[in-house]
Amino acid sequence: MATEIQKNLAEKNAEYAQKFDQGHLALPPAKKYLVLTCMDARIDPAAAFGISLGDAHVIRNAGASARDAQRSIVISEQLLGTRESELHRDFARVSSRHTGCGMLTFTNDDAHAIVKKNLGPAALAELGALDFLPFPELDKAVKDDVEFLKVSTTIPDDVPITGWVYEVETGKVRQVV
Ligand SMILES: [Zn+2]
Repeated sequence: MATEIQKNLAEKNAEYAQKFDQGHLALPPAKKYLVLTCMDARIDPAAAFGISLGDAHVIRNAGASARDAQRSIVISEQLLGTRESELHRDFARVSSRHTGCGMLTFTNDDAHAIVKKNLGPAALAELGALDFLPFPELDKAVKDDVEFLKVSTTIPDDVPITGWVYEVETGKVRQVV
């Protein structure tokens, strides 16, 4: 028996697929850039950042952490059609955290305690010393991310990287660095 969410997925997709005409798009992002943003349900990256289908890689995780996204960033740049010639050098990288982020509301200790309480000691042990990468200050987190990416040997030095804050209250972005 399908849940309401599963039914919604199937029904809405049937409507979407009926009108879909973008099956010809190439694998590499046409505009050769990458956006990293939070998984927060209130962010619509395509609409808010002007990303058309096929234009850019959009990486999302809890808090828009660059550290957490490193695997996807390297894959985006080195393995998914951007390896040829100098193409990868044109990649602009945008890191966008946002106001009201849930990652501002807890510490690593809180997260580990909740895992232990709700899921038990086996789950706690499985996570080990996992860093949930919460952050107490928004703008500092954006600056730290950009710095992390700039000093990273996994990203060529001439790749432009900028850091932004998206305001869930207004829909506006503000460039931090
Ligand atoms: Zn968030």
